[in-house]
Amino acid sequence: METVDDYRDRILSGIHVLDPLELPLSSAHGCVLAKDVAAPWPLPSFDNSSMDGYAVRAADVASATDESPVTLTVIDDVPAGYRATEAVREGTAVRIMTGAPMPDGADAVVPVERTDGGTDTVSITASVDAGAYIRRAAEDVASGDIVLSAGTLIGARQVAILAAVGCGLVYVHPRPRVAVISTGSELVEPGLPLRHGLISDSNSYLLVAACKEAGADAYRVGPIVDDDRQFLAAVEDQLHRCDLILTSGGVSMGAYDTVKAVLSQLGSVEFTKVAMQPGMPQGHGYVGEEEVPIITLPGNPVSSYVSFENFVRPAIRRMRGLSQLHRPVRAETCTVTLSSPAGKRQFARGRFLPGGGVSPVGAGQGSHVLGGLAVSDALIVVPEDTTTVNAGDNVTVIDLRDE
Ligand code: AMP
Ligand code: MG
Repeated sequence: METVDDYRDRILSGIHVLDPLELPLSSAHGCVLAKDVAAPWPLPSFDNSSMDGYAVRAADVASATDESPVTLTVIDDVPAGYRATEAVREGTAVRIMTGAPMPDGADAVVPVERTDGGTDTVSITASVDAGAYIRRAAEDVASGDIVLSAGTLIGARQVAILAAVGCGLVYVHPRPRVAVISTGSELVEPGLPLRHGLISDSNSYLLVAACKEAGADAYRVGPIVDDDRQFLAAVEDQLHRCDLILTSGGVSMGAYDTVKAVLSQLGSVEFTKVAMQPGMPQGHGYVGEEEVPIITLPGNPVSSYVSFENFVRPAIRRMRGLSQLHRPVRAETCTVTLSSPAGKRQFARGRFLPGGGVSPVGAGQGSHVLGGLAVSDALIVVPEDTTTVNAGDNVTVIDLRDE
């Protein structure tokens, strides 16, 4: 049997960051930037008002108080997006809104709250320092500054600066396109009636959701019945559409293990046993002329998920250009005794407890126990050489809560 780490290394050695391309800003969210972005203009790009109020000469309102207001003539009115047609001179003011450019001649803004809000003349009841309430050109970003460097993950905050510097097309590593093919003649589309012996196809939904959470664009194919020809056709159909193919089911030792039967003959897909529980039967390789990576996951839903976490999520993150491939891991106290098979690394589904520590969940650690998976937010890792974790022991835990 192969170790979890060796098998993961073997998969990752054939996975490369996707070639960068230019995407519209709206599609670049969630992608990794492939080159530095410099600001073609400063931010702010012009001196502008930070308040709704009146652009004035500070000297003109130096004596203004509640008791003895100063009255100025309002010569213009500038909303954001417009500019004053006249300069402010002694005794005059321009009504100005937040974000509007400062008129020539004015050196401060009096907030509207310190005025009577007049439109022909304005009565001002407070003095302001020169420079007050002005956002200066380039005080945030200078022209030519690198606002984001290559390798940055573009989240909401990064989208904002890209938009602000006019970066409508962004040079990024795209999201990997992942085709998820579930196999099994027993599988039925969720929502359709089940006759005895049939089950709903959980895995394709599980895996597509997990791929999306890992930052891929994933889509479902199937379920495909256990028929060699139909399965091969489904795989071939995806070759030109995706960067990675995932299959579920059909990789163990049974008589109808179609995935294994078909792909074993393709030459570059290898099947193996990995020393883990759940998730022992695994396969991976490359298919088609373009050598699209394929990872064949076991059919039991919990095995599929645990395999995804160990092997597929890091692969997707590498394709995206991220350097941090793995989830955060913590040391926690396990509150319940847990047994684990000798020679295998167990990934027990667990839940972080509010007061600290972690507890296994679900009706045992069987690889079909979806109820337990659904309430878990942790994988408790029991090493290969440990067969019993006693209540109170320290364990390593993979944190599945959102980063
Ligand atoms: P297999 O690996 O194909 O032998 O499947 C192992 C177990 O997982 C069987 O009990 C299957 O019915 C179940 N299984 C396989 N594929 C799925 C799926 N897509 N959704 C839910 N259960 C599945
Ligand atoms: Mg099957």
